[in-house]
Amino acid sequence: PGSESSPIPTSIFTEMTELARRTGAVNLGQGVPELDGPEQLLRDVADAVLAGHNQYPPAYGLPELRQAVAAHQRRRYGLALDPDGEVLVTTGATEALAAALLALTGPGDEVLTLDPCYDAYPAGARLSGATLTTAPLAMDGDSFSLDPDALRAAVTPRTRVLLLNTPHNPTGAVFTLAELTAVAELCVERDLTVITDEVYEHLVYDDTPHIPLATLPGMRERTLTVSSAGKTFNVTGWKVGWISGPAHLVAAVTSVKQFLTYASGTPYQAALARALDGVEDWAAGLRATLRGNRELLSTGLTTAGLRPWRAEAGYFLQADVRPWGFDDGHRFCRELPGIAGVVAIPTSAFRQGPDPAPWLVRFSFCRRPESLSRAADRLTAAA
Ligand code: PMP
Ligand code: GLN
Repeated sequence: PGSESSPIPTSIFTEMTELARRTGAVNLGQGVPELDGPEQLLRDVADAVLAGHNQYPPAYGLPELRQAVAAHQRRRYGLALDPDGEVLVTTGATEALAAALLALTGPGDEVLTLDPCYDAYPAGARLSGATLTTAPLAMDGDSFSLDPDALRAAVTPRTRVLLLNTPHNPTGAVFTLAELTAVAELCVERDLTVITDEVYEHLVYDDTPHIPLATLPGMRERTLTVSSAGKTFNVTGWKVGWISGPAHLVAAVTSVKQFLTYASGTPYQAALARALDGVEDWAAGLRATLRGNRELLSTGLTTAGLRPWRAEAGYFLQADVRPWGFDDGHRFCRELPGIAGVVAIPTSAFRQGPDPAPWLVRFSFCRRPESLSRAADRLTAAA
């Protein structure tokens, strides 16, 4: 939808969360966690507010959070970053993505991304006046993978930025070293700048490890890496993220950020700096919870006669809804609150080009186990 005067449509998440609210359905649409963040982190934010850390922080972000981000990248991935100039704190990953696209692209440029993709990418390209082009992911049985040949075929002389996302929303794919190496070679060969959205970096459940694209040969100097405290700490409502990379690219993003939001929430940043230093223990627990949730949802969907696909990471899994007689995920999702009291999102909402699998539907498992069980019971009863 969207209004006549706005070229930017209403987000599918806004639409489906509203539908869940109206119908009282269990909301497995939007990726909004029902579980809270680490208790110490919550206390630290409360303390920071009461201690008076309530005015504008430096526009780049509080030094302690920039240092914690740089230390995190070094510790986990061996990536060396200067916290002064190579790290920018943003209002969620969303602002980092928008500011980077506005900084690096404009009319006449192409932004190349994977299809399907997260909905902020087409919207961000549109805001900057650039054209979004896409390379379809390959589908192998019950999972998605990156097709380097399709990506290569989609690069044109106008391609200014490659916008990558691993682990990937909506598919839950984690791209392998072989896939990312092919991407890196292409970027070097065609001299592409990369924005890589790695917000689910800590939420990987199986054997394929998350590899930041910036760690591959020739990539550090051309790559902006985006992440989000919302995903890593179950605090999506705080809207704190960060973007890191070479100083000249971060400076360009910073110049745009000044006039989007200027700076981002002070008390959150102080508390997150401390939490990020100790993220590994927390993240291991969160992964265990979400891995259990994934099993619960997958089993529930199977029992209800749907066919869940594999998801290695993130908040979501896709299910094939044809066993219920639906070829069209949009129709399935429109009817599902009435049939079963559950809200989900058609995977085709994330498609830019032709959809070879319009019967896939995305279900979110970042919910309480009770909510997943309730949804599973309702689906089984309706099957
Ligand atoms: N990128 C991806 C792939 C996402 O799934 C999301 C959704 N939460 C975001 C970016 C936005 O993150 P944030 O809430 O930090 O703006
Ligand atoms: N990233 C979340 C999802 O994919 C939603 C974020 C939003 O509502 N913008 O569902």
